[in-house]
Amino acid sequence: MIEVRGVNKYFGDHHVLRDIDLDVAAGEVVVIVGPSGSGKSTLCRCLNRLETVSSGEIRIDGRTLPGEGRELARLRAEVGMVFQSFNLFGHRTILDNVALGPIHVGKKDRKQARADALELLERVGIAEQAGKYPAQLSGGQQQRAAIARSLAMRPTVMLFDEPTSALDPEMVSEVLDVMVGLAAEGMTMVVVTHEMGFARRAADRVVFMDEGQIVESDHPDTFFTGARSERARSFLSKVL
Ligand code: ATP
Ligand code: MG
Repeated sequence: MIEVRGVNKYFGDHHVLRDIDLDVAAGEVVVIVGPSGSGKSTLCRCLNRLETVSSGEIRIDGRTLPGEGRELARLRAEVGMVFQSFNLFGHRTILDNVALGPIHVGKKDRKQARADALELLERVGIAEQAGKYPAQLSGGQQQRAAIARSLAMRPTVMLFDEPTSALDPEMVSEVLDVMVGLAAEGMTMVVVTHEMGFARRAADRVVFMDEGQIVESDHPDTFFTGARSERARSFLSKVL
């Protein structure tokens, strides 16, 4: 589903991603962990072409990441992304936030798009908030709306970059539960998170990054109990 081959990324002369190779199979849930500044967000942003790579190649569904134009728009629809900040349109209702992409980008019939949006809001447990504006929702509800908005574009892959980091602790689990549900339904997911409980529960594989490199890539049971590298063990001793 996702193939990353020999990817390097520089910001100026700062070498941020170093020879990254990563495969994510269809239906697989890969959790990326690592210290601040290790390149996790940059890798995610390269996967849906919010950043260009300096060298190497990324293929999604067998197609090399397109540079621009219609192909890029299609890729963006295929690869959903959810960030720490929810990035909802503040002057639009929750329902509109979810329905507008399919209407304007997907050219879906307005009525159908709104019906589908309501169904997605039900799925993430906030259907009763459909007519409200983002500022009227809790952080956890806003993030679930952001997930619904991504799902509305019918992505084949979902990227999550610290989706719960900006939330009050009591709202973390309602967002993680939605993500666990998606994983159980077979969604292909790449998730950057500090929630090690989620990694244990939902990940097929944990990828540990440090200083722009993938240092380990293992089943969570192996990673959490028998990380091989000193760097991963030191990281785990701080977060567990
Ligand atoms: P965190 O856990 O704090 O979110 P991260 O692992 O996501 O960290 P990145 O955001 O990918 O790390 O950043 C990796 C490195 O690249 C950092 O040193 C950062 O300062 C640098 N960097 C990221 N984005 C840019 C940018 N647009 N311009 C210049 N440097 C950048
Ligand atoms: Mg980051």
